[in-house]
Amino acid sequence: MPYVLVKRLSVLVLPCLLLCLAFAALQRVPLLPAPQRELAFQAPYLAIAAGLALSLSFKRGRVFFSLLVLAFFYLLWRNTLQPDLMQYGARTLYIGVCILIPLDFALFCFMRERGIFTHAGKLRLAFLIAQVVALFWVARFRQDYAAIPDLLARPIFAGLGHLTLPQSGFFSFLIAGFLVSIRAVKRRYPIDAALLGALIATAIACDRIGTPYTPALFVAAAAILLSVAVLQDSHSMAFSDDLTGLPSRRALNEHTMGLGRKYTVAMLDVDHFKRFNDTYGHDVGDQVLRMVGAKLLTVKGGGKPYRYGGEEFTILFPGKEVKEVTPHLEELRQAIGSYQLRLRSTERPKEQSQGVAQRKSSGGGSGGKTVSVTISIGVASSALDVRSAAEVLKAADKALYRAKQKGRNQLST
Ligand code: GH3
Ligand code: MG
Ligand code: MG
Repeated sequence: MPYVLVKRLSVLVLPCLLLCLAFAALQRVPLLPAPQRELAFQAPYLAIAAGLALSLSFKRGRVFFSLLVLAFFYLLWRNTLQPDLMQYGARTLYIGVCILIPLDFALFCFMRERGIFTHAGKLRLAFLIAQVVALFWVARFRQDYAAIPDLLARPIFAGLGHLTLPQSGFFSFLIAGFLVSIRAVKRRYPIDAALLGALIATAIACDRIGTPYTPALFVAAAAILLSVAVLQDSHSMAFSDDLTGLPSRRALNEHTMGLGRKYTVAMLDVDHFKRFNDTYGHDVGDQVLRMVGAKLLTVKGGGKPYRYGGEEFTILFPGKEVKEVTPHLEELRQAIGSYQLRLRSTERPKEQSQGVAQRKSSGGGSGGKTVSVTISIGVASSALDVRSAAEVLKAADKALYRAKQKGRNQLST
């Protein structure tokens, strides 16, 4: 399987693992003594409370409100849905949550993060409360609306007859699941993946609503997934760079602590990038940085790239000496220098001045312009004497300065 696909799918590992764990627990819990079995019913409360506390302290509104939805579903299951799904009130509430929960999760997945106690957060909370009020109002006071749940519960496809889930709810979960999975695989954000896991867990819980443990265990799994995603999200925000997806300078600092005695550091800097930005605009500049980041990921020789900051990058080669890595860095420098980035029609140069970036007519049929940049590289190694990582980085930076002095688009040691 291509590496990129594996990387995209890796975000789904944790949700799959937790769903498998919930299935495994489902087999074991009924065999436990009664007091321990009772714990299974308290687990969702604990997991939801922990998740709410985490999302509150990290200001993750999307997770906070999703957990509120889960809490509502679980409370409903414990108090109202269990005795008798045939009664009008319970049946209406059940069909309502089967349709609304997946849509809410999908909505939270596609909404931007806007916090909890913000204006947007209050609107989102009001939206959820309105759903609850409307559901209870119809379920409790509008017996004359019975035709609506009857209609929504009507089977459409005979092949789905084995489901407890009303088919309208099944399709709601299916559509939401499809949208959220595309989002999760495309963006690779832990919270999107956790929302997908929570969606699947809730679908299973809703379908097995009449069984003793399934809703409890799967709601707990969903809440754990969402809580862990808050931590993963905060970690990745601190340790990875949003623009290029590379690990950040903070990650570099952390990784240099675990290095052995022998390693080589390369500092890379885009040449005349200020002028490039002035000529082509900041958005094209960003595109170039993304391209450079992607190229850095292809470096050979065991190099691990980081975005040091701005248009500066670092590559760490553990266990390597300068002469072992220079051919790989030369190859990288040439690959970046010869890459032609195509400008979209809206990204034409702001000024006619050409800057250092060469603008060339593309050979392609669209007639669009292409731009390219060069980079300078400074390399230093820890091998000569025992130096701290900070000293090696400084030495690589000095070498980079020499490469700039000598005319740029070259490597200096
Ligand atoms: P030199 O060849 O000496 O490195 O010249 P330079 O112009 O590249 O160096 P300088 O440090 O003066 O300018 C760096 C520029 O990089 C300034 C800033 O506009 C641009 N830059 C830094 N971060 C970003 C970013 O995230 N996106 C974009 N588009 N530009 C950035
Ligand atoms: Mg610079
Ligand atoms: Mg520069």
